Amino acid sequence: MSVACIFCDIVAGKAEASPVFEDEHVMAFMDIRPMTPGHLLVIPRQHATDLSELPPELAGPLFGTAQKMAAALRKSALKPAGINLFLADGVAAGQEVFHVHLHVLPRNTGDGFGL
Ligand code: 5GP
Ligand code: ZN
Repeated sequence: MSVACIFCDIVAGKAEASPVFEDEHVMAFMDIRPMTPGHLLVIPRQHATDLSELPPELAGPLFGTAQKMAAALRKSALKPAGINLFLADGVAAGQEVFHVHLHVLPRNTGDGFGL
């Protein structure tokens, strides 16, 4: 675990979050500033600053969990018409939290995001 990582604090239960799923490899929780209703983040429990540090064996659990979360959102009362999965890798790509994470973003036509 790195010094002062908010997502490591969430994994350790030292910072509050609204978890929706966790297993031995990953955790999924609500984004604190949702871009759209239902916006989730999926993270490896193990700290990895960015994509290059993510152990390859965790790529499957990370993406597979995002796939499950997307399916659950589709069936939820939110009924999004679509879903974006995205990962900001590096400052230039918009990464703000340096513990790698996959966004699961419910979408609807005309919701204003150009992603
Ligand atoms: P990035 O720009 O690094 O891809 O996205 C970081 C995301 O983490 C943002 O969507 C931001 O709202 C979210 N975030 C930042 N700090 C916290 C926090 O303490 N708790 C939660 N749940 N989300 C956070
Ligand atoms: Zn971390």
